[in-house]
Amino acid sequence: MHEHVQKLLDLQKVDLEVSSLTKDLDQLPEEQQRRKRRLDQLERAADEAAAALQQAEVESRSLDTAARDADAQIKKLNERLNVVRNNAEYQATLFEIESVRKDRDVAQEEGLKLLERMEELKVAAESAQAAYDEEKKIYDEFLAEAESLRAERADEVAAARARRDAAADGIPPDLLREYEGLYKTRDHLAVAPVEDAYCQGCYNKITMNDVARLMGKSAVVRCGSCQRILYMAR
Ligand SMILES: [Zn+2]
Repeated sequence: MHEHVQKLLDLQKVDLEVSSLTKDLDQLPEEQQRRKRRLDQLERAADEAAAALQQAEVESRSLDTAARDADAQIKKLNERLNVVRNNAEYQATLFEIESVRKDRDVAQEEGLKLLERMEELKVAAESAQAAYDEEKKIYDEFLAEAESLRAERADEVAAARARRDAAADGIPPDLLREYEGLYKTRDHLAVAPVEDAYCQGCYNKITMNDVARLMGKSAVVRCGSCQRILYMAR
């Protein structure tokens, strides 16, 4: 086997170890983002539900105030009935009392409806908040687990990366870059064996000329179909 191809094959073994050690670690940021988006959604829903309830409470207070003011006004108008000087004034005051009373009744009716609505809003706000709290707990647990997984794995990963650096030593930079690109894009198989003139990376047949070059061991040979770097299997 060509000296550099042998080195790449050894490097690939170490890279596979690194990949298997970091596989679940590498997925953590994406998983964290996914969970965070969900959590943010629930938080927004809880905030909106709380705001709707608060808005209804403000409206309810203002309807209460309107009804109380109307009652006070009616009381005042009733007192005026005792001091009016003629029938026309008396009738006008009665008319005014009736009008204020109607307004008060409307405010009271709306207030009652709003109270019912507030019960629903309260239930909705509580359940939205509970859903958020539950998800937040799960999210925090996830973060803690992720952190302890990273910490546990840190030494092993560091050791594997050191072995990786040692294994990459002495490989020409261009070839190393080519290998690294293939490792990423060819499903962690950049250096593939050839069996019976078939590339074991893509299962296409390689040319007799390439077989001869592989036997000669003096050139780095690539598969014409998948571009993987090839070596002769036993
Ligand atoms: Zn191939």
